[in-house]
Amino acid sequence: MAPPPLPAYLYSPEYQRFDYGPQHPLRIARLAMCHELIGLCGLPQAAEPFAPASLEELKEYHDRHYLHTLQELSAHPLTGGYLAFGLGPGDNPVFPGVYEWSALLAGASLAAGRLVAQEGRPAAFNMAGGMHHALAARAAGFCYVNDAVLVIRRLLSRGRRVLYLDLDVHHGDGVQWAFYETDQVLTISLHQHPATLFPGTGYLEEMGREAGRGYAVNLPLWSDTDDDIYMDCFDRVVPPLVEAFAPDYIVSQMGVDTFFLDPLANLNLTTRGFGHCVRRLKELAMGRWIVLGGGGYDLLNVARGWTLAWAIICGQEARLPAELPAEFCRRHRVPADRGRLLDEDQQLRGRFWDRARRDAQEAVEHVQRHHFPILGARPA
Ligand SMILES: [Zn+2]
Repeated sequence: MAPPPLPAYLYSPEYQRFDYGPQHPLRIARLAMCHELIGLCGLPQAAEPFAPASLEELKEYHDRHYLHTLQELSAHPLTGGYLAFGLGPGDNPVFPGVYEWSALLAGASLAAGRLVAQEGRPAAFNMAGGMHHALAARAAGFCYVNDAVLVIRRLLSRGRRVLYLDLDVHHGDGVQWAFYETDQVLTISLHQHPATLFPGTGYLEEMGREAGRGYAVNLPLWSDTDDDIYMDCFDRVVPPLVEAFAPDYIVSQMGVDTFFLDPLANLNLTTRGFGHCVRRLKELAMGRWIVLGGGGYDLLNVARGWTLAWAIICGQEARLPAELPAEFCRRHRVPADRGRLLDEDQQLRGRFWDRARRDAQEAVEHVQRHHFPILGARPA
């Protein structure tokens, strides 16, 4: 009997050809660092071959004028940028090869979708994907091309229904708006409260429109939300919604900018809370799971978080050492107090913890009251 197909790993050394610039928080080096740690831990890392997304494939969602401008600027960067398309100094710089970078990571996400939907892989992981802020004709939040939207649209075109779960600390706005009026995609986003963080959307009241009413779910979380608060929200909302919606595929964006010490946000997750969510998600999604990366601006947290995620996806968590390999620590000058791969159970109760817990309870109750009846979900 043939062995069961294995989860697919998408990675390319080509990523390191690109650079957002020395002042930019998104360091593409984080991907190489994570890939290295995955290897040092003895996890599978034979990468599936894939091609960059073609212009035609990108046009399946994106505006052609926007794509042509991005292509042109990519070859001949202007320092002034192109503000109508959200391009320019700041969040979305026009660096050499920005179009190729975007097409490459989008190609990896499309390949991940194909490997799961057409080749029977139980899961596929593209750590470079999850560019959830990009809009059809506008770059936003470090994202130029929305690979999550592209892969979901591809699945929809095959008549499938998709659940999109966004764990990034920022609201998954680009994906929410792309499917705001359809009941064929259920989007769920857990994120830091929009009053305190980019992109300023993701309020409880954003529920979807027309046929899509009820099919956009938002759980805004206050600063200082920790593992316990986060796990409780996840457990009370995500499994009942997955069960009720019964999607053909789950696409999850696994941003790790929720972690304690992330320089761009204020939640206090550790590998304990994150790992818990990935494990639960695996139970719910295995066999139909497309896993994308996302934000994460503390490089060490990115390497640790996604190494843990990949270990869980592969069922090889037992291989993970508690401490980061010495060679890795030397090469990346890891400070002595950050030598652990898996966080110890610790209390990270910041000053807003009480409010965070209270608001999270209210958010969960709001979702149970307003979304569960529409979707036919029952509280866990
Ligand atoms: Zn983010």
